Amino acid sequence: MAGGVRNGHRLKAVIPGGSSAPVLPGAIMMDCTMDFDCIAKAGSMLGSGAVIVMDETVCMVRALERLSYFYHEESCGQCTPCREGTGWMYRMIHRIEHGQGRPDDLELLNSVAGKIGGYTICALGDAAAMPVQSFLKHFGDEFAYHVEHKRCMV
Ligand code: SF4
Repeated sequence: MAGGVRNGHRLKAVIPGGSSAPVLPGAIMMDCTMDFDCIAKAGSMLGSGAVIVMDETVCMVRALERLSYFYHEESCGQCTPCREGTGWMYRMIHRIEHGQGRPDDLELLNSVAGKIGGYTICALGDAAAMPVQSFLKHFGDEFAYHVEHKRCMV
């Protein structure tokens, strides 16, 4: 669809349903058709239908940093898990991206995300947590590399 990945690059990842939808690795996405059932079976959702395609030049830590900043900014602050958790997640991802990650950050990040999704008044809490959990699930090696080497593998 849409002519393939631009400039002959390799497909790395796709967020199929807007920024809150769990990211899928390119290899999984290549086996999917763009319908609700197939995307759901792969572990994501079509959501808003705003497809984001990433090639191998994209740093997944930086991509998640941008997403988490958006949700942190959008939080209205009404409920504690979202108000505090979105900022906590953003600050952790920010420091990982900038070479100041700590060895237990990835586990902590996953834990914080797990305490936001499903525990908030509106769906923004889920929307903030799902990208974090899916990026760590599928691209955790990039995050670990950032923490260990203080720089990007991409
Ligand atoms: S989950 Fe919704 S209601 Fe709760 S703080 Fe976040 S944006 Fe506000």
